[in-house]
Amino acid sequence: MRALCWEGADTLAVRQVPDPELRNAQDMIVRVRRSATCGADLPLLAGRLPYLAAGDVLGHEFLGEVVEIGPEVRRHRVADRVVVCAGVACGACWFCRQGLFSCCDNGTTGAAASESAWGQPTGGCFGHPAPLGGFAGSHAEYVRVPYADVGAFTVPEEVSDDRAVFASDAAPTGWMGAELGEVAPGDVVAVWGAGAIGQLTAGAALLRGADRVIVVDAHDDRLRMAERHFGAEPLNYRYVDVPAELRERTGGRGPDVCVEAVGMAAERPGLLAGRRGGDADRPLALREAVHACRKGGTVVVLGTWTGFVDAFPMGAVMHKGLTVRSARQHGQRWIPMLLDRMARDQLRTEHLATHRLPLEQGPDGYALFRDRADGCVRAVFSP
Ligand SMILES: [Zn+2]
Ligand SMILES: [Zn+2]
Repeated sequence: MRALCWEGADTLAVRQVPDPELRNAQDMIVRVRRSATCGADLPLLAGRLPYLAAGDVLGHEFLGEVVEIGPEVRRHRVADRVVVCAGVACGACWFCRQGLFSCCDNGTTGAAASESAWGQPTGGCFGHPAPLGGFAGSHAEYVRVPYADVGAFTVPEEVSDDRAVFASDAAPTGWMGAELGEVAPGDVVAVWGAGAIGQLTAGAALLRGADRVIVVDAHDDRLRMAERHFGAEPLNYRYVDVPAELRERTGGRGPDVCVEAVGMAAERPGLLAGRRGGDADRPLALREAVHACRKGGTVVVLGTWTGFVDAFPMGAVMHKGLTVRSARQHGQRWIPMLLDRMARDQLRTEHLATHRLPLEQGPDGYALFRDRADGCVRAVFSP
């Protein structure tokens, strides 16, 4: 089959690779219909994660058609249209039973690698190297889905591929952002990053009853999108001092919940300069979120971080009584609810797929996505 492979820093190519096969009784094979780029791919693309090897297949947000099922798969049949959670989890360990699917004890083939990086093994994610699973990604014609009954969900007929694909990763991540922030009616929420996850966090916060959501970004086209599709208030950090403006817009108090949806992908001047291969980064958006958050408020970290950050404002966390929460999404918990909201037209996501391309144009799609060129929010590939 054809697949989009990482070939070295900033280099991708479509190659012929072996077809995936069932390896366990709970596996199934899915023929990919849609596979989206994600901000979490950018550190991989740049070669900033150890264990990534030339020939690894990227991609973790996808939707497709079941073509083969293992003998223990109960919830799916051949020809079902399914969206698959980006995270891989067993559904049976202590952590999965608490709903902490991305913390699964059995979701990675590289437990030793994640244990050495973070102290304990975590769940996996498609299209990531050993510490995050070691499973081949979805930018391919076919993908093997482990624990198929846990991570794959049948898509209601009325939801289009272009809408449902975002139930794999961006929508559950955004939903989790609002949930970790315990966003409640009347809250003012600020979100750093107007990409797909930032926009879907804004949408989730408003569905949970937030009074106002302010989205912070450098790109007016994305900010306008967040305003038009989710009713968020735009704030472009190129033109104003963000904490001062947020104080101004909240009667001097600051937002109740601040969500950082930027991570290592932050593009403020100098942020990534000279850092390739290094693990530490200056968390500019995260620092600003901590600084701007009202006393006693909650800061939620959704952006992708892999190692250490420099100069984290711990003093502000302590003296302002902040709560800081973070996770990789536990999508298995929310995907059925999100698909249901999509079916009822409460949640619309298809506008996020600004660039729909054949898999062959994967390298171009990533260049557009990485550089935020031509208004690209997400490139979505069809093999
Ligand atoms: Zn992702
Ligand atoms: Zn588990």
